[in-house]
Amino acid sequence: MNALRPDLLALSSEALIALSNAGFVKKAQKDLSEGKSPELNSENGELIARYSDGHISTLPAGAGLRDARCTCPANGLCRHRVTMVLAYQHQASMANEAENEPTASSHEAAVETWSPALFKTELETLPSSLLKRAYRLASANTLIRLTAWQSDSPTPTAHLPMCSVRFFSSHSLSHARCDCSDQQVCEHIALAVMAFAQAPTENWTQLNVTVIPPQQNATAYDLFSSEAAMALDQAIQTIALQLWQEGSSQPLHHLEALFAQALQLAESLKWRWVLESLTALRQALLDQAARSSRAHPERTLALLCELQARWTSSRYACQPDAPSTPPLLPTCWVLASKVKSRWIIYD
Ligand SMILES: [Zn+2]
Ligand SMILES: [Zn+2]
Repeated sequence: MNALRPDLLALSSEALIALSNAGFVKKAQKDLSEGKSPELNSENGELIARYSDGHISTLPAGAGLRDARCTCPANGLCRHRVTMVLAYQHQASMANEAENEPTASSHEAAVETWSPALFKTELETLPSSLLKRAYRLASANTLIRLTAWQSDSPTPTAHLPMCSVRFFSSHSLSHARCDCSDQQVCEHIALAVMAFAQAPTENWTQLNVTVIPPQQNATAYDLFSSEAAMALDQAIQTIALQLWQEGSSQPLHHLEALFAQALQLAESLKWRWVLESLTALRQALLDQAARSSRAHPERTLALLCELQARWTSSRYACQPDAPSTPPLLPTCWVLASKVKSRWIIYD
């Protein structure tokens, strides 16, 4: 049973939460601990789980969790599909225990060091439009902060200026997760694989890299040159200036229109942290206006500074021509800060 899907055994709870959501994982864990396990079978490499509510989930051979199917009406992932993976892990560890083998639990399965560079050949199977978008990002000199696999932190990660990519399994690229709004493999995941592939093979844990695109794709491109990005820049600068000049107690009606415009632009660009940062700042201002107990002027100030610092750093990191003077603070210090806490909020 273990040999059938080692990639599923390598998925930790953290990975399952990132690939689906915390609610599904908790419910599935609760069901299994109460003995409500689906009936698991495999046919021609396909994993099949039959539930007492009559629904059946299937995972085709070699497919990742996102390609699992279920007979229930849920769009996207459902608790059946998540339960199927946990039940599979549970069954495998029971089988191991019965055979007196060391328990290959989900967390212990991936004991060997690995790098997402091994997905490099898989890049060729991705849609060309997606690769083109990745090359455009690369030709913008997008700075990427890589964190390598480590035994105490076994999820290789790439922090891009606008989003982060985590690789949860060495067995399948489909178990990589980007925090941009895409549920499927996106250009950021492709770019992150290229970055790992260009990094040295050993002797580093954290590294800043810019990907060198293939020659034919090396036309200079500025991430901030699109109409939407320029409009977003304008909206963010206006919001910040307005707040610095008039303070956070000013009536919010004219700021509201700017926030609405900025949020819509960030959403359309799929710039995740910008969206979260603007949402948090807007909420802090609304809390203050409503005299809510959640309102704290220091927090509002910190959110405003964070938005401006990260925005400036991103712009700096994405200049098509390498700047001649280094920034006062390394870009990665600003952009990589608070990443962990944002994940927790979003999970
Ligand atoms: Zn389902
Ligand atoms: Zn993405």
